[in-house]
Amino acid sequence: MKYRTMLLVGAPGAGKGTQGKILGAIPNFYHVSTGDLFRNLAPESELGRIYLDYSSRGELVPDEPAIRLWRQHLATATHEGRFDPAADILVLDGIPRNANQARMLSESLEVRLILYLSCSDMNKMVLRLQRRALRESRLDDANTTVIRKRLDVFDAENKPVLDFYGPDPLRAIDALQTPFRVLRDILQAVEERFG
Ligand code: ADP
Repeated sequence: MKYRTMLLVGAPGAGKGTQGKILGAIPNFYHVSTGDLFRNLAPESELGRIYLDYSSRGELVPDEPAIRLWRQHLATATHEGRFDPAADILVLDGIPRNANQARMLSESLEVRLILYLSCSDMNKMVLRLQRRALRESRLDDANTTVIRKRLDVFDAENKPVLDFYGPDPLRAIDALQTPFRVLRDILQAVEERFG
């Protein structure tokens, strides 16, 4: 069985996490942020060490452990009854992160909607990340070189995910609007797709 899925795609700072959390609070929507899964690992665990190593350089964790972590999380959530694959829409934030991950997940996901939080001014994203660094003590947001690297990785690796799924599920949303207006546009797109 494939999971009925919507993806949140956008540069670091575009608002995927903010909007994903709001959507995840609606009954029958289940939100998974792979960034949060990594940040919740014990830093001394094997995967925790791998995560710190890659993310501190602004790079992606290798595909195989990233997908494994995601699968384990969903299996646990299903087992514990927090996620019901038959009834719920899966809201994915941070995964698939590149075309190879999209291929690895093609047997598991039925991607019905891709919300692309698009941003025409990357300097605004840098400012948002610098603010977040202070509020959430995120190491990978604290350093401008690492931020620039993550924005480059987004262009080179994450954007090709949009091509992988083609134009049909894609909805672009202006990420520079207020969170309230971004949410309004998201809900409109969700209603059109999932009714
Ligand atoms: P942002 O989009 O703001 O960069 P995330 O919280 O989505 O932040 O991700 C933080 C870091 O976690 C990424 O830079 C990367 O190192 C790692 N990560 C998250 N999801 C994945 C994934 N699917 N594959 C590989 N690495 C990932």
